[in-house]
Amino acid sequence: MVVRESQRPGTKRSRAMEGLQRSRTMEGTSPRSRSEGPPQRVDANIALIGAEDVGKSALTVRFLTRRFIGEYGDIESIHSHCDMIDGREICFNIWDSVCPQNEGIADHNITKQLQWADGFILVYSICDRSSFSVVEQQVRRLRGQARTRGGPGATPPIIIVGNKRDLRHRRTVSSEEGRLLALTADCGFFEISAAENYHGVLLAFHGLLELIRETRALKKSPAGIKGIVRSVSAVFGRRRNDAKDAQD
Ligand code: GDP
Ligand code: MG
Repeated sequence: MVVRESQRPGTKRSRAMEGLQRSRTMEGTSPRSRSEGPPQRVDANIALIGAEDVGKSALTVRFLTRRFIGEYGDIESIHSHCDMIDGREICFNIWDSVCPQNEGIADHNITKQLQWADGFILVYSICDRSSFSVVEQQVRRLRGQARTRGGPGATPPIIIVGNKRDLRHRRTVSSEEGRLLALTADCGFFEISAAENYHGVLLAFHGLLELIRETRALKKSPAGIKGIVRSVSAVFGRRRNDAKDAQD
């Protein structure tokens, strides 16, 4: 299989690669437009976090290659994937993390991830209640550290993903619980299956991209933090309906 990696020197990503295993994205990235001069490029650094075995790597690989492979190993990596969306070159840098072994490492990792990421995808498995508790803790940790660092508006946008929806007969976390957590923590929410469906995965990544872009735009505007909160609600009013359609 042909492999390639897209990376520009001097980007936030290349700094963040230090200490992390580099990996390559597989076939499936769209070709970059070279003939029409340099397109407007948008970079989005996305960190996937969550308990072990919830499907972080499966979601990443599904998004990058449209495929579900089944076994992914336990490797921490950052993948870079560029695509043309609405006439713009969008480069997703995706940090597929491994679950930290203890609280100290978890705190340290969140600090690093907050410095690097423009947005977070917090993943749990709908058939693993303890993984849902991990996401609850991670939301608190992210919000807590971000508040300490830079005030209430400092947390990058977060999307909570309940994965393994194909295993709903073994469900231990209801959709309502996931949705409620997202609502109270001011996050987006999707319940999807990396195994079953590419479209839901695409919607989750693109939903986060949209939030990242709106957050950047609002940071520059006088509307500030109130606008960002309104923006999350507005995007996810729409996204929830899209996700529902994707599942139907
Ligand atoms: P990670 O540790 O969070 O990166 O989890 P992985 O991506 O390695 O997935 C852990 C296991 O769950 C693997 O055996 C995957 O094949 C499986 N898995 C991941 N996503 C799904 C899903 O949507 N449905 C099902 N049934 N299995 C999944
Ligand atoms: Mg993994």
